[in-house]
Amino acid sequence: MTDQDLLNIANEYSAPVYVYDAESIRGQYEKLTVSFSENTKFFYAAKALTNINILKYVRNLGANLDCVSINEVKLGLKAGFDPKSVLFTPNCVDLAEIEEAMALGVHINIDNISILEQFGNKYSGSYPVFVRINPHIFAGGNYKISTGHIDSKFGISIHQLRHIERVVKSTGILVEGLHMHTGSEIKDTDVFIQGLEIMFELAEHFPDLKYLDMGSGFKVPYQEGDMETDVKALGEKVEQALALYKKESGREFELWFEPGKFLVSKSGHLLVKANVIKQTTATVFVGVNSGFNHLIRPMFYDSYHIIENISNPTGSERIYTVVGNICETDTFAWDRKINEVHEGDILAFRNAGAYGFEMSSNFNSRLKPAEVLFLNGKAHLIRQRDEFEDLLRKQVEVI
Ligand SMILES: *Cc1c(COP(=O)(O)O)cnc(C)c1O
Repeated sequence: MTDQDLLNIANEYSAPVYVYDAESIRGQYEKLTVSFSENTKFFYAAKALTNINILKYVRNLGANLDCVSINEVKLGLKAGFDPKSVLFTPNCVDLAEIEEAMALGVHINIDNISILEQFGNKYSGSYPVFVRINPHIFAGGNYKISTGHIDSKFGISIHQLRHIERVVKSTGILVEGLHMHTGSEIKDTDVFIQGLEIMFELAEHFPDLKYLDMGSGFKVPYQEGDMETDVKALGEKVEQALALYKKESGREFELWFEPGKFLVSKSGHLLVKANVIKQTTATVFVGVNSGFNHLIRPMFYDSYHIIENISNPTGSERIYTVVGNICETDTFAWDRKINEVHEGDILAFRNAGAYGFEMSSNFNSRLKPAEVLFLNGKAHLIRQRDEFEDLLRKQVEVI
């Protein structure tokens, strides 16, 4: 998919519009599968981007699915995933939601002792579960997206192992898998190996274990000079560690990973239109027809998205501050070099596939953008742009 394809899509569907390149998703998925043995499975973290077509596409590639809500589970099943290829990894849900997932036949990952106990008392060993461990590894990324630190709400602390064991023993619950997800954007692949070593130690306490799920944290590059997690090197290290462990213990596990961002981030482009160029005493603003109602990552996580003027690919660079049209401070980028922008030009935000559309809202009563999938050289509309009526659809007029 070229920038000319993107321009054509902007012309046809008008901006703002999210565009996803299927080929890019396939490329990322293959990078993973060629780097690991067949004993490793990849569970696409649905929350990154849940359009049903994306779910179907990754399923066709051979991926499994990681879901954090019961509705993601239902979407996954609707997209054709076999329940046995779905893992439900919720956080702070009640037993009823866990039971709903159980009725659907998916793998269940329990992340606190209270639910583990309730579940065990009710079902004992009749439905095997995963236990989500917080190993307290600080895995990098920024604090908001790191989940392994001591203050994190995710998982059961590794220091509570004795407590987990007591619940397992007293209820007869069957632990088929252990899970850890230490955060996002892990730069150093040794963090995974460190996590794996912890898993091996924990495994001694769980005789029925079949699966070790290492979560995600695969990093993608956002700007020049950034690196991507070296999955090939990681694959080699992991296979080595597994082989050694097998030799020493005689045990073997299926290894799972849950990439979200790694699969879909770079496939996505948010195309917006430059509404106004506004020169102030201090800077030149480009005000675009979008805002954090469409892409919140820059404001929420201070994330960096490359912004390019695809209407003026050969123009000379100028320095701009790119802002949205929302009545809140919604600065996408300060002091960026962008090819000279004229009102009406189409700007492309790169790396908008993961947590882009998915985190969008109707704030300011603005409409959510359309989504387009570029597949086999052709653009397909996969979600219609919101219409005015959508703003009122679920409202109940009582006055
Ligand atoms: C969000 C999440 C992921 C995916 O993280 P990425 O950084 O997008 O790869 C994987 N597993 C769990 C449990 C998650 O919550």
